[in-house]
Amino acid sequence: MMNYGIDIWGANNFFIENGKLKINYGNQPALIDIVKEIEERGFQGPILIRFPHLIRKQINSLYNSFKKAIKEFNYKGKFKAVFPLKVNQFPTFVKPLIKIAEKYNYGLEAGSKAELILAMTYNNKNAPITINGFKDKDMIRLAFIAGFMGFDVTITIEGLNELKSIIEVSKEYHKMPVNIGIRIRLHTSGVGIWAKSGGIESKFGLSSTEIIEAVDILKKEKMLDKLKMIHFHIGSQINDISPLKKAIRESGNIYADLRKMGAKNLSAINIGGGLAIEYSQWEEFRDKNYSIEEFSNDVVYLLKEISNKKHVPMPDIFTESGRFIASPSTVLVAPVIELFSQEYTEKALKLKEKNPDLVEELYDLYKSINENNYIEYFHDALDHFESLLTLFDLGYIDLIDRSNSEILVNLIIKKAITYATLKGFKNKDLKSINEKFQEKYLANFSIFQSLPDFWGLGQRFPIMPLTKLNVTPNRSATIWDITCDSDGEIPFSKQFPLYLHDVGLEKENYYLGFFLVGAYQEILGMKHNLFSYTNEAIVTFDSEGNYEIEFLEPTQKIREILIDLDYDIDEIERELKNNIESAIDDEEERKEILGELFLLLNDMVYLKND
Ligand code: PLP
Repeated sequence: MMNYGIDIWGANNFFIENGKLKINYGNQPALIDIVKEIEERGFQGPILIRFPHLIRKQINSLYNSFKKAIKEFNYKGKFKAVFPLKVNQFPTFVKPLIKIAEKYNYGLEAGSKAELILAMTYNNKNAPITINGFKDKDMIRLAFIAGFMGFDVTITIEGLNELKSIIEVSKEYHKMPVNIGIRIRLHTSGVGIWAKSGGIESKFGLSSTEIIEAVDILKKEKMLDKLKMIHFHIGSQINDISPLKKAIRESGNIYADLRKMGAKNLSAINIGGGLAIEYSQWEEFRDKNYSIEEFSNDVVYLLKEISNKKHVPMPDIFTESGRFIASPSTVLVAPVIELFSQEYTEKALKLKEKNPDLVEELYDLYKSINENNYIEYFHDALDHFESLLTLFDLGYIDLIDRSNSEILVNLIIKKAITYATLKGFKNKDLKSINEKFQEKYLANFSIFQSLPDFWGLGQRFPIMPLTKLNVTPNRSATIWDITCDSDGEIPFSKQFPLYLHDVGLEKENYYLGFFLVGAYQEILGMKHNLFSYTNEAIVTFDSEGNYEIEFLEPTQKIREILIDLDYDIDEIERELKNNIESAIDDEEERKEILGELFLLLNDMVYLKND
């Protein structure tokens, strides 16, 4: 048995029972049963499943831990939070989030004009909107309109030119319906693969000299009362708490000094995002060295300490952590459609009357391998195979001999694995065989579309099968996706090993779950090879705890993705029709093939489970 590190990354959201992965909520359905129901409704291929109850759990955990810290340290400021839309802008995520957000007054952060339009449309009325990123005057006008609508809007300036634009727009409207925030350029930077957002060299924020100039400009324009917030963000997925503590000290001192410089309405510090998720499924590694409780305690305690020391009121605390909120809510399930070694069966052997000596020897090894000699025979088989490949290159054996060698070596490896497994999963022999030879699992999904952070940054996501969890897996696994690109692979790694089961796919289905994929992956996903978004489902639970598939949307069709690329679909259809008409004379046959072609054009972009 193997639990795939579920106790490390699973946060009690899933558990294993009777060999199945189950959801620890409501009546605790098995994920495989949900997948089967979706398939019974005619959906095939990869499925992205969203669980809004896990969005609620994360929001709850964020608010509760800050509430607790505020109480414990007798902190006088308030806690407020916004969801950064860049983390997941899809309606199937945002709309459930907005419903859950109402109770908390949880707002939205926008980093572009399109995101701002979403915030203006869907944000709950009393919840805050913060606006970051580079802005033109139109974006500032949109922010003003959001203010006119009655939203509590803060525009965070990334540079002095933006402040000048805000002043100009306020003169156009003769009103100032928004608050101003200043993004500060800290000398503290984060750690980890997403750490570039902080530090003195960072792309964002004002230096201390620019901050002072901003205050002077605001004073001159009699707008200093609109300065409400200072903001920093030292990077997503901060895996070490110490840079955050440094950033809090640095920003706390800037806040206090700005108050002393006359910014009397400056009342909030927005600490950006950064709250990390534990993605590890290996005992030896952790993706973060702190808990949400430690995070909130540190923020509250340090801000209290600085405020008291500098005799300024304790500021409200804003967070913009989105990865923490969104990641756990989404699971990608991909069916395995082929195991590479399954082609190598005894039936496929085409032994001749007279075979090359080494092939005969391989056959003998295969027939006489047993629990006492399997490791020696495994090594011999590999040696023989190397020699046979050299003989093929030199022209001494033919393709049939080579194929027989391949089949025999694979059969010997399988037998060796079976004998080694009998000695237990942790035995040295099995490890050494598995490190030399991996099974290749071809899964019906695209890494470029569904796990772009793995492709681009090497970020690992927990992976596990949904079934057979009462059987010890004994194959070291490399996962191949269905793109025609050798980068579309999660190779076996000795450092981060993944073991899967040896399954006969003709007899049983085998699905892989990719977890914690709710943040960033979908919007960063690429249509490489023209594989676009997957099937998508929202699964909720009714008051009796029964699950419900509340929403189901199929993957894109071939014709739709071509239209997306700006192809003229009428032209494509016309040309396809011409090609058939000019090549097939028989009218009946022509009609039939044309009909079939048009059906196939409307098929999904992913593979079908034939
Ligand atoms: N706020 C800002 C300004 C950001 O740039 C980001 C993302 O990098 C976030 C919030 C979200 O941070 P996280 O990914 O840690 O949730």
